[in-house]
Amino acid sequence: MKIALVSIGKIARDQHIPAIAASADWTLAAAVSRNATVEGVENFGSLAEMLAARPDIGVVSLCMPPAARFEPAAEAIAAGRHVMLEKPPGATLSECFELARLAETAGVSLYATWHSRAAAQVQAARAWLADRNLRRVRVTWKEDVRRWHPGQEWIWQPGGLGVFDPGINALSILTEILPFAVHLDAAVLDFPANRDTPIAAELSFRAPGGVAVGAVFDWRQEGPQTWDIEAETDEGRLLLQNGGATLSLDGGPAADAPDIEYATLYKRMAELVAHGRSDVDLAPMMHVADAFTLGRRRQVAAFDW
Ligand code: NAP
Repeated sequence: MKIALVSIGKIARDQHIPAIAASADWTLAAAVSRNATVEGVENFGSLAEMLAARPDIGVVSLCMPPAARFEPAAEAIAAGRHVMLEKPPGATLSECFELARLAETAGVSLYATWHSRAAAQVQAARAWLADRNLRRVRVTWKEDVRRWHPGQEWIWQPGGLGVFDPGINALSILTEILPFAVHLDAAVLDFPANRDTPIAAELSFRAPGGVAVGAVFDWRQEGPQTWDIEAETDEGRLLLQNGGATLSLDGGPAADAPDIEYATLYKRMAELVAHGRSDVDLAPMMHVADAFTLGRRRQVAAFDW
């Protein structure tokens, strides 16, 4: 199937272009960018031009920051194209519900991707937890914003989510591996004095049976980076590390597997289109929205690059 990639920035180049090139399901047929070009394909300066010029391209994959995603997604759906959304699928829950409605009405597939859910050991973690009695779950997502988001001003602007940009990846894994639903019951969000989005957050969730479920996100971590989920059960401990790529069960050796995140997303998109289905799970975003609704706000030191 022919696909067009829209917004050629960091994630488009790091992951989408290589994943499409390696897939037997897809041919990258066009790129849309205000500033960049992709070698070997037709390039367009706007989505409208591409949609008009290339009716043969049935699928569009959107790689811009979330606050800029609704309009192009709605435009592509209105033009009868199937649409794949980078995470988080939008800046608000209501716009995501609206996109799902528009896609259903138009009879096209909409896929709100969560790349961390496709990390190599996430399904093994889910299977291990499925029939165990959980006592406590702790998420620790601590990374250096200067290293992973150099110069990206949008992450500090309304709709950019701040530390929830990586934190929502943790929540996408958490909501995939837990055998029950949780809901937020308290949060503290740390906003730099000069920024509109948080640099750190602590969340606690209410879970069935009083299981303690908590998360800490921090963008000020220098040195070793931490993307861990730890779960204690009546029958041992699970440690999922490196954003879902490494799993150790009950103190046993850590199992690693090759990175399959974006290959898995594009395979899933091919299946959705083939079967005329959509996949729009907004649970990770719901928890982020709840944190902004319920969270106590603290002002912390100003942030500069
Ligand atoms: P980025 O490089 O800063 O931006 C991606 C591209 O989006 C830009 O090159 C630009 O493309 C377009 N763009 C930027 N700001 C825009 C705006 N205000 N309005 C319209 N278009 C805009 O960001 P990124 O790191 O690739 O992240 C994009 C999305 O991927 C985010 O939702 C992020 O959460 C997700 N993601 C990022 C990573 C990562 O490691 N960076 C990993 C996984 C997922 P044009 O110049 O072509 O228009």
